[in-house]
Formats: sequence, C-alpha cells, structure tokens
Amino acid sequence: MKNSFYNTTEVIGLIGNPTKQSYSPFIYNVAIEITKLDYIYLPFNVQASNLQNALKGMVALGIKGFNVTIPHKVKVLDHISNLSEEASITGAVNTIVNEHGKLTGYNTDVHGILESLMPFKEEITGSEMTLIGAGGSARAVIYVLIRYFKPKRINLVNRTEQRAESLKVYFQDKMKYDSFKTKELFPPDLVEIFSKSKLIINATPIGMFPEVDDNVTTIPESFTKDQIVFDLVYNPADTKFLQLAQSRGAITIDGIKMLVHQAAKSFNLWTGVEMPVDDLYKSLQLFISK
Ligand code: NAP
Repeated sequence: MKNSFYNTTEVIGLIGNPTKQSYSPFIYNVAIEITKLDYIYLPFNVQASNLQNALKGMVALGIKGFNVTIPHKVKVLDHISNLSEEASITGAVNTIVNEHGKLTGYNTDVHGILESLMPFKEEITGSEMTLIGAGGSARAVIYVLIRYFKPKRINLVNRTEQRAESLKVYFQDKMKYDSFKTKELFPPDLVEIFSKSKLIINATPIGMFPEVDDNVTTIPESFTKDQIVFDLVYNPADTKFLQLAQSRGAITIDGIKMLVHQAAKSFNLWTGVEMPVDDLYKSLQLFISK
C-alpha cells in the first residue's frame, strides 16, 4: 500500500461466513506488500440472506474483486450472469471480478489443482485415479482430471456414497465422461482400489487441524512406490495421509501448493500482476506451522 492517505487504494476481499479462519488476508496482503501494489485485502463476514446485497454493495463501492468461500460458493451463481468455463462446469465460484459494474465469476481452485498436478502429467495421464470426497473442491478436482489428464477410470470414494453418485451423474452430463466407479469410504476393498490407482487425491477435511491424527486410511498397503498422492488439506501440510504414502515410497503433493496457486490466479485476475508464488509458498509454510 504505497499511498499513505488511501486515496487511490483498490479494495479486494473475501466474502464468507465464517471468514475468521481464512489464510487469504495473509496471502494477499503479503503479495500486495511484495509487489508494492496500491491494494488492500479485507475479509467481510456475509450472511447467506445478505449475499445479493453484498454483491450490489461491491458494485456500488467499486470493490475490485472478491474471493468467495463457504457457504456462498454455489449460491453466488444465482447472482452472476458471466461465468468462466471452469465456474460454469464445476457449478462453483471462488473469485469474482468487478469490471465497471460487470461481475464475472471464476473458479481458481481449478488452477491450483492443475498447477499441483501438472509436473506429473506424463505419469498420470490415462491412468486409474481415486478421489476421496464429493464436496465443492471435489468438483474442481474432477473437472481438472477429465479436462487435462484423460483418466482411464475415476474411483469416487465418499462417506455418503449417494453424494458420490450424484457427482457422477452431474459430470456424466456436464463433461460426457462415463468411467466412474463410486464407493463408500470405509469398505475393506478400498485397499485394492487405492493400490491400483496411479493418483490418489484427498478432497475431504480428514486430517485437518485440530484432528491431525485422523487419516483416510491407516493401511500401509493402500499405497505403492511411485504413486502420486495429493492432499488438499493444507493445515498441517504434512498430514498423516501424506506421511503414510511417503513411507511406502509414493510421491506426495501438499495442499499449500494448491492454496498459493489458486490465490495467484485470483490475484492476477484482479491486478493483472503475477503473484510471487515461491515467496508466498515459503511465507505460508512458516505462517501455518506457527
Ligand atoms: P465440502 O464441500 O464441505 O466437502 C467435504 C467432503 O468431505 C464431503 O465429501 C464430506 O463427505 C467429506 N467429509 C467431511 N468430513 C468427513 C469425515 N469426518 N469423514 C469422512 N468424510 C468427511 O468441503 P470442500 O470445500 O470440498 O473442502 C474439502 C477439503 O479441501 C477441506 O479440508 C478444505 O480445507 C480443503 N481445500 C483446500 C484447498 C486448497 O487450496 N488447498 C482449497 C479448497 C478446499 P459427505 O458427503 O459424506 O458429507
């Protein structure tokens, strides 16, 4: 923030409820500091009943952009007519850009997931993959897998199998992809499904602070050497899930990478400037471990 009188400062921020737990104010304000942009990022706690008013306020006040978090990521689509392809297909918006009163919705989680998986493109393309979870972020994962990595099959594993079924039907329709197999989270044959998958992704909060000892599976044979295992949980970065996978020789990807890259995409959409992702990754690692 270079203008000490705030006369030209652009406002960006976060709408959600709650917003207290979010790392976004830290990420973006550090990025603003490093890039010396005249911006400020603020969290706004918005009740579901006030969502439309908040968007009107955004336009009226000239707020440049919002991140959108729980519980508004899906509902916000009712109020925005312009959507990116990712937002439209996943049915979820995590970033809004205000261009002179015209609001456009994006899903930059897709970008964070893609950046996390791209280094392993050769190994995973065309392979069998397993995704645990059927919530909002699972939608972004499925979009990326189908769009960029041509999966032989996607095993959709979820605590509530019915929700995995609904997601399967949704993506069969939206992306014309048929090779899904759905499973409930805890049956014994999961070990076989896991171990046959080249890529395993956790898109549930299992193992997240403060329940850091929880794990999707405690069976070492679930993992194999050279498998790629990705956990969306970023607090802690080194989850029990990734620890177990590492102990079997798997290659692991933590959730901080996704967190930084989805933020970098939003930052670029609002400011036109690249976020210094390596600096942010290091700052976040330190911030989260404290
Ligand atoms: P969500 O929409 O609430 O979905 C949560 C999913 O996890 C559902 O499928 C739910 O199963 C399952 N689940 C929740 N608690 C469970 C438990 N105790 N045991 C088994 N399954 C459980 O959440 P989301 O937005 O997709 O987020 C999921 C995780 O991804 C969170 O930890 C979040 O922090 C992380 N995330 C990370 C990033 C990043 O940038 N790294 C971005 C987005 C999200 P049911 O269907 O049975 O309820």
